[in-house]
Amino acid sequence: MKLEKIKHLNGTLNVLSGLHIGAGRDVIEIGGMDQPIIKHPITSAPYVPGSSIKGKMRSLLEIYYFINTPGTRKFVGEGKPCGCGERTCPACVIFGAASDKKDINIGPTRLLVRDAMLSSHHQDLFDKGELPMEVKYENIIHRVKGVAEHPRPLERVPAGVTFDFSMSFKVFEGDDPSFLDYVYKGLRLIELDALGGCGSRGCGQVRFDNLACDGQKVDLASQNLD
Ligand SMILES: [Zn+2]
Repeated sequence: MKLEKIKHLNGTLNVLSGLHIGAGRDVIEIGGMDQPIIKHPITSAPYVPGSSIKGKMRSLLEIYYFINTPGTRKFVGEGKPCGCGERTCPACVIFGAASDKKDINIGPTRLLVRDAMLSSHHQDLFDKGELPMEVKYENIIHRVKGVAEHPRPLERVPAGVTFDFSMSFKVFEGDDPSFLDYVYKGLRLIELDALGGCGSRGCGQVRFDNLACDGQKVDLASQNLD
């Protein structure tokens, strides 16, 4: 397999509504936030793991395009990522296949998504202690009393914060040219859905601004999602 090109994609991830990418329960300190966001272990600055972006792109693309029966769009299988490992499967070629029946010709995962770090303006604010994280309280409404109970604090990156993101995309000889389009469609689907946790409750609306591929501007809003 001949590697023809490695394309470079970059842009700005703009947080439009509080972003909650959970840090996992093993980092909870006594008296600390019980739903903290993931932060850099040394600087404590929030960041967006590449795996969160890549995983959300893949799951949305799979349910939107790849995992459906003809004429309908419905979930099949057990809710797991596609593992067919075939050279013609966009999900497995673009995002990787952890399958033992993997086609010998499938080659390396095409898409690499780097962790997105605070853009320089917001990093400066953070360094000066002027970028506090948001603590949002969520409740359960008692069905009879109609009052909110059991408030739990949810930490979020506040709306308005921006991160720099970048990705690389490998093109091998014989690859379907539409594979790269699925990267754009995946980003557009995240804009229409949400990133991180609690998306159905208002968190994680984002926009990918200033997207460029090898320096050429890409207009995500006009991506055709048919
Ligand atoms: Zn597959």
